[in-house]
Amino acid sequence: MPSLYETLGVGKDASVEEIRKAYKSLAREKHPDRGGDAEEFKAIQQAHEVLSDEGKRRMYDMTGSVDGQEGGDMGMAAGGIPFEFMRGMGPFGMPGVAFDIGSMFGGIFGGGGGGGPPRRRPGKAPNKHQDIGLRLADFYKGREIKLKFNQQRRCPTCGASGAEKSEPCGPCGGRGVRTMARMIGPGMVAQSTGPCDVCSGEGKRILKACGSCHGKRFREQEKELVIQIKPGMREGQTLVFAGECSDTPDFEEPGDVVLTLKRVEEEGWEWRGVDLHTTLSISFAEAILGFQKTLQGHPGGTPVHVRWAGIPLVHGSILKAEGKGMPTSTGFGTLYIQVLVSPPPQREWTAEEREQLRAIFGGEEEPVGGADVITLGPHSLVGK
Ligand SMILES: [Zn+2]
Ligand SMILES: [Zn+2]
Repeated sequence: MPSLYETLGVGKDASVEEIRKAYKSLAREKHPDRGGDAEEFKAIQQAHEVLSDEGKRRMYDMTGSVDGQEGGDMGMAAGGIPFEFMRGMGPFGMPGVAFDIGSMFGGIFGGGGGGGPPRRRPGKAPNKHQDIGLRLADFYKGREIKLKFNQQRRCPTCGASGAEKSEPCGPCGGRGVRTMARMIGPGMVAQSTGPCDVCSGEGKRILKACGSCHGKRFREQEKELVIQIKPGMREGQTLVFAGECSDTPDFEEPGDVVLTLKRVEEEGWEWRGVDLHTTLSISFAEAILGFQKTLQGHPGGTPVHVRWAGIPLVHGSILKAEGKGMPTSTGFGTLYIQVLVSPPPQREWTAEEREQLRAIFGGEEEPVGGADVITLGPHSLVGK
């Protein structure tokens, strides 16, 4: 099979402009309306579609194939709206709800163009990308999700012909292709070769429809994929279920179902690398005297109790609890707790309390004011 570059007759380092020019002149020359071969013309269109798209071209250069969509956008929400899957499934994916992989007809080269079903081409159909929304706890503890959907497969009874009995199509002689002459002006006849319009390019006339698929050529079956989320898996990781997309009329092989793990929005716990980050509100007194607190909502499912008996903390101080982060292959990461200190109670302090505080913290004698000193009192407090 010629490379896409050979199909367009350009070098591998051809510029976008060169590709465009080569395509234009070839498309003009090889158009079926001008007697060109339909398959060849289609190949030229495909080559142009891939090579004129920077992403697809890079993909093709790397893999030599045009069917995959991984690579450049690996791990991103390629093709899938984030959490579309979750919305379809209800809160956090109740198993057994319909999932739309079954209707993946067409694809990047699909649709054919002009009359009749497109010819099945060798190679693999595009993959179907889908995000899987997970909570932090799912990544921490692992989870099994069952994904059910209707999968179409070629009817094995009729070999996807749709016919139990058939005979060669008369008008095309069973070839599926016809050359037709058409008057385009006085004394001017144009010949064009294309899929036979009588048999839609199949080359056969159906005498009796296949009873198994009722002539539809495909049969639908319920398919269940079991997705194993294992502790230590990361956000953005992809799981590939090879060939689990529906069979399509366009391609020999079905595409893969590619699932990308995404974390749903959750308050309070941030996940960076193997570590967790959270915040803890404490009082001014606790910042000075120490505290024992319980952190709720840890993805491990059990509350985390922490005690601090060290030096006074300030607003924004960060404490770390080793082993309380996310699971890794060898253990667990670290939990970082940022302390948010509330201000001291806003009330009048007695002269005695002020004396005690001054004895502990030091500080100026009672300010006495002066002629050029503006005295700010409680009435001057306009914010907080
Ligand atoms: Zn025919
Ligand atoms: Zn059948």
